[in-house]
Amino acid sequence: MQQEWKNLDADERCAAIIAIYPKTKGTGKEIAHALSQQFRVTITRNAVISHYNRHASKLVEVPLTGTPNRETKSRAAAGQKKPVAPIPAKPKKPSGLLLRSGGHFAQPVLVKPAATPPVLAQPLTAPEPLRLKLYQLERNQCRWPVGGERENTLFCGVGTEPQASYCWCHRKMSVGIGSRAERDAIPRRMVA
Ligand SMILES: [Zn+2]
Repeated sequence: MQQEWKNLDADERCAAIIAIYPKTKGTGKEIAHALSQQFRVTITRNAVISHYNRHASKLVEVPLTGTPNRETKSRAAAGQKKPVAPIPAKPKKPSGLLLRSGGHFAQPVLVKPAATPPVLAQPLTAPEPLRLKLYQLERNQCRWPVGGERENTLFCGVGTEPQASYCWCHRKMSVGIGSRAERDAIPRRMVA
């Protein structure tokens, strides 16, 4: 015997919704449509939704889908019944990597090109400088400044070849800097 919808109390209406729910996709519209057919009265989508709102605790097993606030609440509770609608692509969140880089898109990582050693640093095996002041330098001691300023400039002081201004190491370092004419001048001066 078919009861009339309008005579049902809240619990009976909940029961009716629960009974009919599996035949629907769980949207207010479909539930309303199914109930309307079953009870042969017009039951609106809004009526269904407001019934859900008033009796949410009794309807957690048959969550409404298709209404945003319902959907999020119900999905965890009854994910198995929810029709899997393709989730619209969300704007991508920046990746952790992106966040760590301060939000900038992959800039070429500024890897310093293998730190081409400065020319002067090539003979790193420079002898330990004696750090002599100018007046302390003998003729055969290297005059390569290694520290200090002006009259307090300190010089390498390592022994040199006869007539050479610099020790073997600083002579190498002196070659290759300056213009070609200057570079050529060094051997000539040494020869002289
Ligand atoms: Zn030297």
